[in-house]
Amino acid sequence: MAETTKIGCVCGQTRLEVEGTPIVSVECCCTSCRTAGDRMQSFEGAPRTLTDYGTTPFVMYRKDRIRFLAGIESLKSFRLSSEHSSKRVIASCCNTPVYLEFKGGHWLSLYGGLWPEGAMPAPVMRTMASDLPQGATRPGDIPNAKKQSIGFFAKLFGAWVAMGFRNPKTPNTGEINA
Ligand SMILES: [Zn+2]
Ligand SMILES: [Zn+2]
Repeated sequence: MAETTKIGCVCGQTRLEVEGTPIVSVECCCTSCRTAGDRMQSFEGAPRTLTDYGTTPFVMYRKDRIRFLAGIESLKSFRLSSEHSSKRVIASCCNTPVYLEFKGGHWLSLYGGLWPEGAMPAPVMRTMASDLPQGATRPGDIPNAKKQSIGFFAKLFGAWVAMGFRNPKTPNTGEINA
């Protein structure tokens, strides 16, 4: 059995376990993530979600490699608007962002804040860099793809092949207005 890593919300009530290595660890530069990050950071007690330069660190894991150990009942989801199909989920115990789920996706993008300081797998690329505000500076340490790179899609697709094209269910969450 692959090694598991325990992660969780800031207050410790919501706990998860991820198995093996992620599909990929990224920083998303898109406007939706930045808007959502701003909103989530404004919730009481919420940890910082955005980097200093406005990107959102995510660790993308196959759904079948993520297990919720505790706190499922405190998960709450919201959509940016009725036109947005992707769902962002926070742990309402302490307002820690937990994951972003694309409708029909076989993975969850777990928010970097679930890992203890410095323990998150280092991002290997930035996606949607074309969405950053004009003149925004960001470190040049990792590749900045203007949209989503072919390598990014290849990793996602490869994971889905390995999963036998299944799409495991995720927790039923209550909704909040955010
Ligand atoms: Zn919590
Ligand atoms: Zn994004």
